[in-house]
Amino acid sequence: MKLYELFGKRKTVFSCEVFPPKKNDPIDSIYKTLDGLKDIRPDFISVTFGAGGSQVNQTTRDIAALIENQYHIPAMAHLTCVAAGKEDVDRLLADLKADGVENVLALRGDVNPDYPPKTDFKYASELVSYIRARGDFGVSAACYPEGHLESPDLVSDIRHLKEKVDAGAQHLVSQLFFDNEDFFRFLERCRIAGISVPIEAGIMPVLSARSIQRMVSMCGASLPAKLTRILARYGDHPDALREAGIAYAIDQISDLIAGGVDGIHLYTMNNPDVARQIAGSISSIRKV
Ligand code: FAD
Repeated sequence: MKLYELFGKRKTVFSCEVFPPKKNDPIDSIYKTLDGLKDIRPDFISVTFGAGGSQVNQTTRDIAALIENQYHIPAMAHLTCVAAGKEDVDRLLADLKADGVENVLALRGDVNPDYPPKTDFKYASELVSYIRARGDFGVSAACYPEGHLESPDLVSDIRHLKEKVDAGAQHLVSQLFFDNEDFFRFLERCRIAGISVPIEAGIMPVLSARSIQRMVSMCGASLPAKLTRILARYGDHPDALREAGIAYAIDQISDLIAGGVDGIHLYTMNNPDVARQIAGSISSIRKV
């Protein structure tokens, strides 16, 4: 199934993102995450690729195949063109097809100084059209409610996003954000610019002050006053921060769904307990 086919029904799409186990951890450690996620039946699960710009390896493909064939949940494999040239892409697509994985999130990725970037594609839009031209894949792409860090302004960011959709991206998944008004304004700008594909809102529950500061500095998301207060008050109290962070994410999601968002993409950080708690708290909300 192509993921764009999930949208447009009454129900809000709910998807989860996982990352491959760290370098020295066995691939089997992903089973615990997937076993926990399967009970909440996300509409699809996406698997990140070479985060930090590392080189092509088989792990993303292996995990996507596992999700698709053993857990019987549609999988979306991420793929970055800083790590993959045309030959790598051709090989990965052939492998994914053989494994029955039909959906790819086509990304540029970020350059890691430890690995020279591949140069066959400059922007994600070029990867999108390359994949669309080669075989029958559903192709999704990333978007940035507060603008991509390298963009000089929001206008050019939206212009380039439109190019990515015109190149063949059929569905967009957003970077994490903490202020829904940023997302609703972004959505309006997209629709005015003629971007009509489904756009999922990326939500990351705040569970640790340190990791959220790191994420925010990496992706440029802003912290609204409400969240800054939570971090100041509960930052040194892990259990309290976890409760407050989950409550904040649930509040964000219920407001987004009330506002008619196409879908929610939960950055699970491979923590199925938190994902379950959040999914359980919005199960009726999702169906309205
Ligand atoms: P692009 O769409 O190519 O955009 C990059 C920049 O170039 C933007 O500023 C854009 O405005 C600009 N641009 C685009 N086209 C043009 C043009 N023609 N002329 C001039 N400027 C242009 N990273 C990983 O390494 N692995 C992952 O698995 C991963 N998963 C992600 C999942 C999601 C949902 C998101 C939002 C991000 C993910 N990332 C991942 C991070 C992503 O790779 C980085 O944000 C990267 O910097 C940009 O990738 P992109 O595909 O959005 O790039």
